[in-house]
Amino acid sequence: MQKHDQDYIRRKNRSTVFELIRKHSPLSRAEIARLTGMSPTTVSRIVSELYQQDFMHEIEQTTTGVGRKAVMLHVNPGSVLSVGVEIDRSGIRIGIVDLDGKVVHSTQVTRDSRETPEATLERIASAIEELIQAEDIDRRKVVGIGVGLPGIVDYAGGSVVLSAQLGWKQTDIAGELRRLTGFEVAVDNELKVRALAEHQYGSARGSSRSVLIGFGSGVGSSLIIDGEIYRGETNSAGEIGHTVVDPGGLLCECGKVGCLQTYIAEASLVEQANKIKPIGSLEELFQARKDGEYWAASIVDRAMTFVAVTVSNIACVYNPDTVILTGKLVESFPEVRDFISDKCMDQFVWEPLRGTFQIVYSALESDGVVIGSGILAQNLFLDIDRQMEQAD
Ligand SMILES: [Zn+2]
Repeated sequence: MQKHDQDYIRRKNRSTVFELIRKHSPLSRAEIARLTGMSPTTVSRIVSELYQQDFMHEIEQTTTGVGRKAVMLHVNPGSVLSVGVEIDRSGIRIGIVDLDGKVVHSTQVTRDSRETPEATLERIASAIEELIQAEDIDRRKVVGIGVGLPGIVDYAGGSVVLSAQLGWKQTDIAGELRRLTGFEVAVDNELKVRALAEHQYGSARGSSRSVLIGFGSGVGSSLIIDGEIYRGETNSAGEIGHTVVDPGGLLCECGKVGCLQTYIAEASLVEQANKIKPIGSLEELFQARKDGEYWAASIVDRAMTFVAVTVSNIACVYNPDTVILTGKLVESFPEVRDFISDKCMDQFVWEPLRGTFQIVYSALESDGVVIGSGILAQNLFLDIDRQMEQAD
């Protein structure tokens, strides 16, 4: 028991030091001791262990002002790699992600929307294997696979509860991919991993409470508090698409009336447009608005109003310091961004909250989910508490 405790503390300290250098490098040994409260001897021992295992390197740097040289520690970004996988309705993106959150190699696989989950997972497993071989990647450095997809995900169980977009229900993704590849697997909702990526390497760096809102095929949000994903009881925190904003409103696919997504989601906007004129996409709808068609302006203007209302409601619920807007509606149409920057804060956000947070857009764009999924797998590997639980 005693030995077990000591082993735990030793590993926990090691992981704390590694995480600190990973997130705040360059750091000196003295800074690490000060930030962690560990003794200089402990820090030196841990650093030399990590150094021997190639997890970090030292760089001699002139410290500003004093002109003295100090030895600073950096993580070796290629020492730990993970595989990030994004599964979408029509395609799959796979990337090898390093400790700096960079996609160092990537590949894409098309997906037939009618194929079974098992067939998709088999194709993902082969594509990962091919990528590792083609790029001559050292398998021992690959610590796991992270998967991000749309839908309700049982994070602890590694399975999809329901994904309407993929047509998957009760699918054990982690178990199946682990069996096929031999790697550890973590699975989460796409907006949650995207938020994690933006928080760690994108437009919300340095934020302590950020919310990402996705306006795409559905509407959803994800909250990151002090670097951790806020999941709620069943990993469904942030599912705002089905919050009712008008009890006398439009019928939603979920069977309720007046859900937020009926005013913002792409399919819903296209469906409303089709009551007037055959329209196939958001692009055509925005073009009709530009051409001065009144009905198109009314649908788009209402959607923009609801985007602004959503930002305000989210700010009231979570009181974040940063709100990240993502998804086709806000990324592909400058009209929407203009509306947000002109009106959102001044006209829609509740007065006491105005100026208490910044509104930003994705910095990682199409790589966001792959990077976030890769981080998820790395975090699982670095989670000492979880490893000790498994060892018991
Ligand atoms: Zn609904």
